[in-house]
Amino acid sequence: MDRILDYAVPDDLGDGVAPGALVVCPLGPRRVLGVVVDRAPPTHAGRLVPLAGVVAGPPIPAELLDLARWMARYYLAPVAACLRMVLPPGGGGSLRRTGDGGWDLVAPPAPRERLVARLGDGARAGSPRRRAVADELGRRGGALPAAELCRVAATTMATLRAMGEEGALELVRESAPPDALTSAGGVAPARDAAPVLTPEQSAATAAIAAAMAGDGGPLLLHGVTGSGKTEVYLDAIEGARRSGRGSIVLVPEIALTPQLLGRLRARLGTRVAIWHSALTPAERAAEHRRVREGEADVVLGARSAVFAPVPRLGLIIVDEEHDPSYKQDGSPRYDARQVAARRARDAGAAVVYGSATPRPEAWHALTRHSLPRRADGSALPTVEIVDMRLQGAGPVSRPLARALHEAAARGEKAIVLASRRGFSLMALCRGCGWIARCPDCDVALVQHERPRRLACHHCGHEEPVPGVCPSCHAAEIARQGTGSQGVEASLRRLVPAMRIVRMDGSSASGRGAVARLLEEFARPGPAILLGTQMVAKGHDLPDVTVAAAVDADAPLQFAGFRSEERAFSLIVQLAGRAGRRGEPARVIVQAYEPQARAVQLGARHAVEEFLAGEVDRRRAHLLPPFSHLTRVVVDGESPEAVAAASAALASAVRDAAPAVAVLGPAPLHRLRGRTRRALLLQAPRASEMTGPLRDVLSEHDAALRRAGVRAVVDVDPQET
Ligand code: ADP
Ligand code: ZN
Ligand code: ZN
Repeated sequence: MDRILDYAVPDDLGDGVAPGALVVCPLGPRRVLGVVVDRAPPTHAGRLVPLAGVVAGPPIPAELLDLARWMARYYLAPVAACLRMVLPPGGGGSLRRTGDGGWDLVAPPAPRERLVARLGDGARAGSPRRRAVADELGRRGGALPAAELCRVAATTMATLRAMGEEGALELVRESAPPDALTSAGGVAPARDAAPVLTPEQSAATAAIAAAMAGDGGPLLLHGVTGSGKTEVYLDAIEGARRSGRGSIVLVPEIALTPQLLGRLRARLGTRVAIWHSALTPAERAAEHRRVREGEADVVLGARSAVFAPVPRLGLIIVDEEHDPSYKQDGSPRYDARQVAARRARDAGAAVVYGSATPRPEAWHALTRHSLPRRADGSALPTVEIVDMRLQGAGPVSRPLARALHEAAARGEKAIVLASRRGFSLMALCRGCGWIARCPDCDVALVQHERPRRLACHHCGHEEPVPGVCPSCHAAEIARQGTGSQGVEASLRRLVPAMRIVRMDGSSASGRGAVARLLEEFARPGPAILLGTQMVAKGHDLPDVTVAAAVDADAPLQFAGFRSEERAFSLIVQLAGRAGRRGEPARVIVQAYEPQARAVQLGARHAVEEFLAGEVDRRRAHLLPPFSHLTRVVVDGESPEAVAAASAALASAVRDAAPAVAVLGPAPLHRLRGRTRRALLLQAPRASEMTGPLRDVLSEHDAALRRAGVRAVVDVDPQET
């Protein structure tokens, strides 16, 4: 709902109805949760519906109420969606009448149970394929969450159920074990002592202290992994605490940084709360209460922790500030980095953005502090670039295969990063793993849909998509991305001695999944951690002596204005993952465009040179931070309606705001049967653009609805 509704305040509710209070609003026959944003004098109260009640519990703090309303304006987002970000836990649940005639919120129950497969007695019977599933389960201790078994054994739930009926295995519901990350409070750990800071670290902490005292704006802390950024954060948090103020620490993905929580607790004690999407409602409510009441004065979490109700906020830290996950990919499309800046400004707090590979806008606009060396004195690893045009077919080059063999022989581990490449999809048998290959080139054929066929992107060979698998005759041919799955098949063939742990969006979702995968990888013996960007993020893994990117220049295939920096930061971040603690390491970067600037400079860790060039390029093209962008995607089922609506919006914005450059409407790929067109708006200041756009959209609202067309607005888009 994008509107603010007026209600009358019955006398008996009186003072409870103040801005920020949660109230019960009659809406037709329903009772819905509302947030009071303002109280006005009772002018036309006689004609208004009265509120039905006030919800028990503390109101939303004024600071967060203001922040939510600012977000709604800045991002052109529905007020309700923004208010939802600052609601206490349970805000998504339902209203309940209490015994004494009041109201409270019932949080939705969490799915805490999961299906676990256990090896049964009949395990040796059945088809070879089912035997293979049972063997896999046996190798992994005889019990595994069913979803995980499906993944590791490349099978389906249907197969597991059938095996369950045969008695080959048993499927049981079990409650998920508590996750180490989610046990709030816990045992007080031994206090770590702080090291003596280097002069560079001290300069950074002094600047943060000054900003906290109201003297200085946001800061950029630039340093490679291991250069001592976290020690600066810890010192700054302790400084905030000494002056009675709280801190928020944002990380891209909390499950990937368990050791950061450990370090925070080891240094700061148990007054550290975590803000985690996988918390159960009860855990979340407990953490929320600890924070609101000041019992915990440090909050660690992903994006949404920027809304934590920390009283007397003194410091916000945004670690790995270059990470795209800080931008929410759904309503409200807020950027936690931007929200952090705004919240810190209003609270008189300091904000620190940390990264080894900052975004050009941060590099240009913020006061910069660099930590030039790793604290343990270790050198950055040498990066080898492999020109894939000179290699055979297949995603794994000879130098990489050799490096992996050597690591396997020494019992060491490797990280292999496989970004998704373009839109290539291959035909794969879910039953046996067979992949359709070109008879001439031995590369996976790419599946096309219109007309439906398989094609080789090397030589142009074409053939029909088979109905059943030529290898095992199963009718389970699926279209599969050539991303990490394709690479996994090659690695299994080339280095069978290495255990492969795959970590990507699908395998790493769900409570505790990432922690389990990391544990599995850390088990003794040679292993490969294979996955998308995730594997290059902040965790600190021992024994990793090879770090490789199979398609380091994949981001360059996209036309977006951040493609270069994505490719660059991937390479630099990956290099930072290997060879810590002085172990010799090899970093191998495979590229189809090895001479690309991002690849060359990334391999040399030439951050300053790269970013200086990017800032120049952005200035020349008037891209952020030299302008603000807003993207409007118009979509609908009828191509004609989408074309007409997007053209009408474009000309209306041009008329309403001559200072705004309007690009497009440009056609986009169809998505789920809907035609899409995009407008890109560019203006020196965001408000010059969003103000007129808001007016235009509300004028066109009824017409868009009639035409069955939607317009989705993305302010400060990450891609264009
Ligand atoms: P980053 O956050 O940049 O990866 P850390 O703060 O984790 O770096 O530092 C890397 C390692 O160096 C850690 O073990 C840390 O305790 C240690 N370290 C950092 N700064 C110092 C210092 N000034 N003196 C001694 N050790 C330090
Ligand atoms: Zn071919
Ligand atoms: Zn098959």
